[in-house]
Amino acid sequence: MSAKDLVKRIKDEDIQYVDIRFTDPRGKLQHVTVINDEVDEDFLDGGFMFDGSSIAGWKSIEESDMKLIPDTNSAYIDPFYAEKTIAVHCHVVEPDTGETYERCPRSTAMRAEEHLIASGIGDTSFWGPEAEFFLFDDVRYSNTINKVSYEVDAADASWNTDAEYEMGNMGHRPGVKGGYFPVNPTDSAQDLRGEMLSTMKNIGMKVDKHHHEVASCQHELGLVFGTLTHQADELQKYKYIIHNVAHAYGKSATFMPKPIAGDNGTGMHVNMSIWKDGKPLFAGDKYADLSDEALFFIGGILKHAKSLNAFTNPSTNSYKRLIPGFEAPVLRAYSARNRSGCVRIPWAESPKAKRVEARFPDPAANPYLCFSALLMAGLDGIKNKIDPGAPSDKDLYDLPAEELAGIPTVCGSLREALEELEADHDYLLDGGVFTKSQIQGYIELKEEENIAYEHTPHPVEFQLYYSC
Ligand code: GLU
Ligand code: MG
Ligand code: MG
Repeated sequence: MSAKDLVKRIKDEDIQYVDIRFTDPRGKLQHVTVINDEVDEDFLDGGFMFDGSSIAGWKSIEESDMKLIPDTNSAYIDPFYAEKTIAVHCHVVEPDTGETYERCPRSTAMRAEEHLIASGIGDTSFWGPEAEFFLFDDVRYSNTINKVSYEVDAADASWNTDAEYEMGNMGHRPGVKGGYFPVNPTDSAQDLRGEMLSTMKNIGMKVDKHHHEVASCQHELGLVFGTLTHQADELQKYKYIIHNVAHAYGKSATFMPKPIAGDNGTGMHVNMSIWKDGKPLFAGDKYADLSDEALFFIGGILKHAKSLNAFTNPSTNSYKRLIPGFEAPVLRAYSARNRSGCVRIPWAESPKAKRVEARFPDPAANPYLCFSALLMAGLDGIKNKIDPGAPSDKDLYDLPAEELAGIPTVCGSLREALEELEADHDYLLDGGVFTKSQIQGYIELKEEENIAYEHTPHPVEFQLYYSC
């Protein structure tokens, strides 16, 4: 939709406000609302000035002026505001040069898409993120969250039995890892998820299904795949709608990767494929009907996985999910059959549906940076013909210790991931998609989270050490 068409739509549909939305480096959607009288073609083409120094990880106070450029194609009616409002997603540019701002995540995603074309490897990439979430305001967890968390044997959920007995009759509630997927009343969020999915559909998002997930109180809605920047926008809308519909029902939704010790965590598997001239590049006659390019792409992802973790698993909490026994991957391995490695090749009905699924990302990730970094790692694999090694078709959780010792792992902490990113980021700089200063700024921002976490006493420490 052109700026002219959007101005016409605002008039024709009597829209009162335009909500200017953008995403900060941590991945949080931000907004400012402009009255309809102010919005003409010049406004939409020219952009909106704002103070970039107030956004964590962006400019310093003495060089704070920045400009938001609305993407008129991204416009959608906000489903929650009382006043009729149309929202547009924006990227940030330098006001003097008009260049994309190096630290703007949406600009990074746009540069990544341009780089794919410039590389000659492909012209389009498709992204299918599967972001899970928990819905709370549930007596079970509010009573037990601190009481039972630290005694967990990570590979054995039976620890929870005592806690369940202590709680008495749990009624029709899914037990630990028991949520996939009994009907009502065990699944008590059918209507809530249905309203979330319909709200998405009604604002023009392409969606397909919703279901309870494995953990108690855990859910997932299905988004249909799309191109990189567009799909990152869709994920921002997905989270926004889930948060707000839950809020309207007196619940709270969280995309935090591991809110409950001893039950499955919250992943965001990312399905990826590259196309060129209308043809799928990942379909072929090699392992799992993949092409050489797809295998090299996997090689790049596995090689850079520990550096990628800084973007795909960007919270201190992310590493409480990446442990054995909860369907989250630990080992840097790939397979068409088992779900315990970092990369899976889902069965595909046709070459068009052939894709590679990265299983380690979680929805704390900034989707623009997460998808861009994954693409850059995969392209590095294709350019340098990085061999992914042999597939691992056994259940990696059950491998004997001596076999396990030979397989590399993902990072064990945010600190390790930031160190890995510091040491391994040249593949991100290709074509100016990421910049050194952007990566440095991101590491500094995330280091603040590490320090806040490490300097704060933890409930487990009270249990372990209070009486020492
Ligand atoms: N919740 C699991 C994870 O943390 C994924 C479960 C699934 O396969 O959907 O990745
Ligand atoms: Mg899932
Ligand atoms: Mg999946």
